Amino acid sequence: VDAPELLGVGALVAGYGAEPVLHGIDLRVRRGELVALLGANGAGKSTLMRALAGLHRPVRGGIHLEGTELAGLPAERIVARGLVLVPEGRQVFPELSVRDNIRLGAFLDSRDIDARTESMLERFPRLRERLHQRAGLLSGGEQQMLAIARGLMSKPRVLLLDEPSLGLAPKIILELFGALDALRGEGLTVVLVDQMAALALALCDRAYVIEGGRIVAEGSASEIAADGALARAYLGAA
Ligand code: ATP
Repeated sequence: VDAPELLGVGALVAGYGAEPVLHGIDLRVRRGELVALLGANGAGKSTLMRALAGLHRPVRGGIHLEGTELAGLPAERIVARGLVLVPEGRQVFPELSVRDNIRLGAFLDSRDIDARTESMLERFPRLRERLHQRAGLLSGGEQQMLAIARGLMSKPRVLLLDEPSLGLAPKIILELFGALDALRGEGLTVVLVDQMAALALALCDRAYVIEGGRIVAEGSASEIAADGALARAYLGAA
């Protein structure tokens, strides 16, 4: 039996000026799923993630989390509802310590902050080793783990991850994807944008292919792997 839908996006239109970048996006994410959003550079993946997170106001369309409409809400209200973005480029605060970066993730609700911080350090032991260092001194992979830890501190019901593997060495990417697999194993619902399409397909339950601001294919990981849409989406934008 399929789990119930947790996140639903309907006919979402968003852009940066008069010209829309997203031309009516429909997505469904069920509870506990790891869904990948794949597509070439410029397809609109980051715009979609930012629109979902309320960093970018949609022109039209709906974003429902467990039946609650989120489109048009300010970003912090969306975080409070449980839709949490770990943005492209990680965006940790380089001058702050690792510990303070983690704790910032609890800015809306600081109950049990020490216990929650401790659980992040158990999950990402490298962060414990560097707890009192400035975040700017961490490696790219450590910064990505930190950005994810900060996002998890907001108690997401759906975690949105934009290009977590960007700029990381292959070995670190595998470690990162292992961490994502563990999160999914704990029941977290994840939407993942990543250029590592083969790895993302190996990890995800379902995938959407986005091209020119439109969804051009949707299916299980194996269906998408076998479908030509993904290859066409990447080649078409070359
Ligand atoms: P990438 O992998 O390169 O991040 P993407 O699929 O995430 O690609 P977006 O970053 O969403 O794509 O960009 C989609 C389109 O929107 C591109 O044509 C891009 O030039 C345009 N765009 C992105 N950000 C802005 C902005 N701040 N102002 C104007 N146009 C933008």
